[in-house]
Amino acid sequence: MTNKLKYFIANWKMYGDLKSIKSLNKVIKFAKSFKNTSFKMVYCPPFTLMHPLSIKLKKTKISLGAQNCHTSSEYGAFTGSVNAKMIKNLGAKFVILGHSENRIAGETDNIIKKKILSAVKENLIVIFCIGETNLQKRQKKTFQVLRKQILSCLKGIKKNTKIIVAYEPVWSIGTGNIPKNSDIDKNINFIKKILKKNINFKNPKVLYGGSVSSKNIRIIDKVKSIDGYLIGGASQNEKKLIDIVKKTYN
Ligand code: PEP
Repeated sequence: MTNKLKYFIANWKMYGDLKSIKSLNKVIKFAKSFKNTSFKMVYCPPFTLMHPLSIKLKKTKISLGAQNCHTSSEYGAFTGSVNAKMIKNLGAKFVILGHSENRIAGETDNIIKKKILSAVKENLIVIFCIGETNLQKRQKKTFQVLRKQILSCLKGIKKNTKIIVAYEPVWSIGTGNIPKNSDIDKNINFIKKILKKNINFKNPKVLYGGSVSSKNIRIIDKVKSIDGYLIGGASQNEKKLIDIVKKTYN
């Protein structure tokens, strides 16, 4: 059984309604009773469910996170947007930024950097997503892409800023396709090297994300460089999510 702290970040994407909140009961009970305390679970629901979840997760071992935030942490005339201050005000501690689903919708490295700075200003822990597309992988540009994403979004950021990187190959998200363990390990070690060398992070944490399930977790978790998981589809089912955590530890 490992004692290394591992993160399990549940990204509900644009799923869930008030009824879905019930599914947290089992997970909360599980988190309370689970013997191995070296895990950190974070729920990132859509904005519409953040308030009810903040109430539900109070006094539990599970934290709350958001799936995005505006570039400005100030209040302002930005219809449809939510800023880091508002997220913090709900009791959330985390925010996912740079997710490939948002990059595909037009979010640039420049926008992501501004979002990171606004989240950091509000003391939120940023889960910063990076990863290569299928084409970039085939063109053997993975290192180049990861390096550019890190430098463009994190260069100049203060040394001990609370940022966790999520390595998410775009071609793996929601597809059921998983990289070979040797590739995950190679890419995560590369990311850690850049974070140490170019961003001055002392002890960088890097998660893996992309089609993690209760069926493949035992295989993926053999990669020792992984510090946790960003889980999309499987996190919407309480049994699958609990299974993923259990199988990570035994
Ligand atoms: C994600 O949303 O970041 C993700 C990894 O999704 P999935 O687990 O469904 O591939």
